[in-house]
Amino acid sequence: MEHVRDLTLLPKAHLHLHFTGSMRPSTLLELADKYGVRLPDALTAGEPPKLRATDERGWFRFQRLYDAARSCLREPDDIRRLVREAAEEDVRDGSGWLEIQVDPTSYAPLLGGMIPAVEIILDAVEAASRDTGLGMRVIIAANRMKHPLDARTLARLAVRYADRGVVGFGLSNDERRGMARDFDRAFAIAREGGLLAAPHGGELTGPASVRDCLDDLHAARVGHGVRAAEDPRLLKRLADRQITCEVCPASNVALGVYERPEDVPLRTLFEAGVPMALGADDPLLFGSRLAAQYEIARRHHAFTDGELAELARQSVRGSAAPEEVRAKLLDGIDHWLSG
Ligand SMILES: [Zn+2]
Repeated sequence: MEHVRDLTLLPKAHLHLHFTGSMRPSTLLELADKYGVRLPDALTAGEPPKLRATDERGWFRFQRLYDAARSCLREPDDIRRLVREAAEEDVRDGSGWLEIQVDPTSYAPLLGGMIPAVEIILDAVEAASRDTGLGMRVIIAANRMKHPLDARTLARLAVRYADRGVVGFGLSNDERRGMARDFDRAFAIAREGGLLAAPHGGELTGPASVRDCLDDLHAARVGHGVRAAEDPRLLKRLADRQITCEVCPASNVALGVYERPEDVPLRTLFEAGVPMALGADDPLLFGSRLAAQYEIARRHHAFTDGELAELARQSVRGSAAPEEVRAKLLDGIDHWLSG
């Protein structure tokens, strides 16, 4: 039998992981117990909930489950535990670099305000990084369901913490709401402050939303971006400019963006030369973590080990990791492939 390389040993960077969504299901149950929170049945069933976010009702249901999980994070200790466990899970999956995404607005009320929330999160990331050896940074993400002025405030805050571990600025939630353009000022502030622009686009809506991310927000990376596959010219543009798409195959299937794992157009993006960084998005709700995304590429799209190594390289190149970390990871990838 041919030797099968272990994908959990393939060094990679993880660029698309949401804060609450990274939680271990067992931790959610413990925290709910600690605070006497009655969780929706879908979160206690012991298997990932059935979701379908291709219509607004389905997306709303997804958000409600997410909010229920988030309501169990109440004290700095909970935040520290969440981040440490996210790091541990990533290490187990071969990640050598994690950029975790958070909208601190959601945690501020329970943690004493925006600044304390950001400080607690950044301290937790620093501690988890120290304890696990995993390089970690933070993407602060605005919510497109909120007013663009809130996003500007958040962008200023993110820039203030650029030397404390914030490397990027994102934009999340329902792409069908509001225009990317409404957030152009917030992204200008972030970019001028040296942060990488990494908005979500091309998940729930088509190629136009990816173009908006490029034209209006000057995205250096696109969260998901996978539906660029529907537009060859856009694919070429992403490839020419080497804009990394943070593709999350298991999430796409769980949310009904694509019917089956083999329908996620990984091959189309790869063959077009669009760099990808596979990500888990919200493992708590979708039931699979980082290495499983590479497993999907291998099993459902027949990516060879050489191609999987190239995917891993793309994730590293698309990251905000410092040069020495990149060099070490790229070296490890070559080593994995030659082993
Ligand atoms: Zn996401």
